[in-house]
Amino acid sequence: MLPEISTLARLEQLDAQTHQLQVRLTELPKILTAEKKAVEAKKKQVEDLQAQFAANEKERRQLEGDVQLRQTKLKKLKGQLEQASSEAQVTAFEHEIQFNTSEISKAEDRVLELMEQSETLEPQIKAEQATLAAAQKAGLEHFKAAEQEHKAGMAQIAQNATSVKELVAALDPKYAQLYERLRKKYKTGPILCEAIDGNCGVCQMALRLAFWQGVKAEPDKLWQCEECSRVLVYNPSVMLA
Ligand SMILES: [Zn+2]
Repeated sequence: MLPEISTLARLEQLDAQTHQLQVRLTELPKILTAEKKAVEAKKKQVEDLQAQFAANEKERRQLEGDVQLRQTKLKKLKGQLEQASSEAQVTAFEHEIQFNTSEISKAEDRVLELMEQSETLEPQIKAEQATLAAAQKAGLEHFKAAEQEHKAGMAQIAQNATSVKELVAALDPKYAQLYERLRKKYKTGPILCEAIDGNCGVCQMALRLAFWQGVKAEPDKLWQCEECSRVLVYNPSVMLA
């Protein structure tokens, strides 16, 4: 291989790495944002469960207070019933006693229901809180790692840019111009292509027979695909391997 083409291959490697890094560095904040959103959703879920738990406790306390009041009232009503002097009074007290007893029973049923609900909620909240804490911890670690990765990536991109500049400056101007031209045309893709079985390995165009024979006869000359202009690399030893 021509030393100039080796340099072009090295430039291509550097450019590909830089491009990969740029793509990754663009993706990083998106990945972090998605993770942050997931953590926020989990936090909201925990808060909703906690609100349910608080509402449950509040309702239970109210019902228990209500039951206590009705029980005091019942005691009083039973005393009044014993001292009732008319049939109408007896009926009225009995009616009220029945009403309060039924209300107490309803409240107690609801309290039991709420207690069952609360027994399910409590471990659920604990589990979700643990998941949230783990997600928050992981999020923080990922953020720190992303910061490091970003810093390292930026440094590598800068280093690659310097290496590219140095390699281009050392190249024969004809090749340097070729590189610049191809890089302008193919901003991120390959600028070298392997000639495989008489075809351009990148654009797949079949090479003219005479051209292909020329490539095989003089692989150390500069050949460019007539279709895509990329630099053809012919390496029979690699192809046999
Ligand atoms: Zn081509």
